[in-house]
Amino acid sequence: MEGCMFCKILKREIPATIVYEDEISLAFRDISPKAPTHILVIPKKHIRTVVEVKEEDNSLLGHLIYVANGIAKKEGISEKGFRLVINCGLESGQSVWHIHIHLLGGRKMTWPPG
Ligand code: AMP
Repeated sequence: MEGCMFCKILKREIPATIVYEDEISLAFRDISPKAPTHILVIPKKHIRTVVEVKEEDNSLLGHLIYVANGIAKKEGISEKGFRLVINCGLESGQSVWHIHIHLLGGRKMTWPPG
């Protein structure tokens, strides 16, 4: 999608520290990490936000969680625990309009989130 930062990362038009890629997903380190491990898992398909997810995207979204799980294992944060976050819309703080799962770990998390 023209003008989308994460589509530009997908096309290697802007740099990112990529940790995983397959035919339908990409994962890279967040540029402004909020935890020792902070990785974004995105679909290659441009979906703006959770609100725009369609039934046909069910397996794609499940795949992203599966990918996040594998990365958590590789990062060594699986045993202690980690958090997956999807911000959806302005009030949630979503700032990039290409759906993404935040994989956060490596420190004790607090609840509720801010
Ligand atoms: P959200 O606020 O949920 O939309 O999350 C967007 C995330 O993307 C933020 O945590 C940003 O730090 C991160 N981000 C923005 N630009 C980049 C970039 N070029 N490379 C890696 N992460 C980015």
